[in-house]
Amino acid sequence: MNRKTRIAVVGAGLGGLTVAGFLQRAGFAATVYEQAPTFSRIGAGIILSANATKVLRRLGVEPDLIEAGIKAECYISRAWDTGATQYDIWFDAESERRFGGIYLNVHRGDLHAVLEKAVAPGSIAFDHRLIDLQDTGGGVRLVFENGTSAEADLVIGADGIRSKVRDVLLGPELPRFVSMVAHRAIFPARRLDGFKIPDCTKWWGRDRHLLVYFMTSRRDEVYVIGVVPRRSWEQDAASVPSSRAELMEDFAGFHADLQRVLEVTTHVSIWPIFDRERCDRWSGGRIVLLGDACHPMRPYMAGGGAMAIEDATILSRCLAQFDEPSDVYRWYETTRVERVGAVQRISIENSWMRGPTDTDWFYCYDPCVAPLTRPA
Ligand SMILES: Cc1cc2nc3c(=O)[nH]c(=O)nc-3n(C[C@H](O)[C@H](O)[C@H](O)COP(=O)(O)OP(=O)(O)OC[C@H]3O[C@@H](n4cnc5c(N)ncnc54)[C@H](O)[C@@H]3O)c2cc1C
Repeated sequence: MNRKTRIAVVGAGLGGLTVAGFLQRAGFAATVYEQAPTFSRIGAGIILSANATKVLRRLGVEPDLIEAGIKAECYISRAWDTGATQYDIWFDAESERRFGGIYLNVHRGDLHAVLEKAVAPGSIAFDHRLIDLQDTGGGVRLVFENGTSAEADLVIGADGIRSKVRDVLLGPELPRFVSMVAHRAIFPARRLDGFKIPDCTKWWGRDRHLLVYFMTSRRDEVYVIGVVPRRSWEQDAASVPSSRAELMEDFAGFHADLQRVLEVTTHVSIWPIFDRERCDRWSGGRIVLLGDACHPMRPYMAGGGAMAIEDATILSRCLAQFDEPSDVYRWYETTRVERVGAVQRISIENSWMRGPTDTDWFYCYDPCVAPLTRPA
């Protein structure tokens, strides 16, 4: 595609910053519009598997990532009652060679600070909440809540699960509450008072599960996310404060090793979990979607962020390679839909690493060099 094509990316999340970083390296002047006034260190962690971290290495930010987070040594699945190990996977130099990348746990705020370095200075317009897209004949006008507007030839909607760009493309439709909520807490590891925990453990109950992991290489900050059923969610807020007592009540009866962690948690909040029905239409006209904007998924496989990063990589390759937007979209969607569909399905099943699991197809994939799939 002509490098003079004006590309607007809406949303400076994982996918938006990755696609902008690659497009800028390919010679496009991509601008990112982000609703938030700045990146903040909100209370949550994220796991990035090798299929995502190998991409970020290509954007030159791997050393910063390793500095910000922790290269986890292992991921262990344990039974809620007996504590028996159901599955474990160990990450070392050999696994990095095999998967082609590191396995990283990191605080989301720290990850964003790192990803910001992957794009050209000054190319993120903060405090720009998109409220409308208007066809001008020769392009698209992006209208922002702050009273400004901008023109582009092509708009990439990387604006997450409540995507405004998606609303314009496919019509407004609310995300679906999946009748589950997540307790989240972050606390200093010194509160464990010497009690040793692995870098990452997933505790598997019958209808609920809980992840505990370190977020820094100093192993001084612990993240807990415990997912439990909840019939409804009435609040408008993205999260509401909760308490250690509520968290412990929801995981009462779980193994003593977990209780030892839960009893020192602080700053517990509850977040509703949403997804959407699978929809394989991600583009039309001058608009194309990526990441949660087109396929938000339940967070049980820790794969949604990785899918956004993979989408961004494949989309940037298609934009650099093909001239016509229709060709770009067809190659991009055909390359992505099947893999994303598999991750969505496994996320709904909540089966990833519950027991013996083939992880190679997920971790070894390299979207920077994987063949693009020819459309039918
Ligand atoms: C509880 C939980 C735990 C998770 N854990 C993991 C994990 O461990 N590993 C993993 O890979 N994934 C995980 N995920 C999924 C992951 O967070 C998402 O899939 C990922 O963030 C999607 O990236 P994105 O770039 O598509 O969207 P986002 O990261 O959501 O970014 C969207 C951006 O767009 C901005 N925006 C939104 N609307 C507008 C607008 N109108 N105008 C301008 N800007 C706008 C937002 O402010 C935001 O910066 C988890 C999800 C949840 C809910």
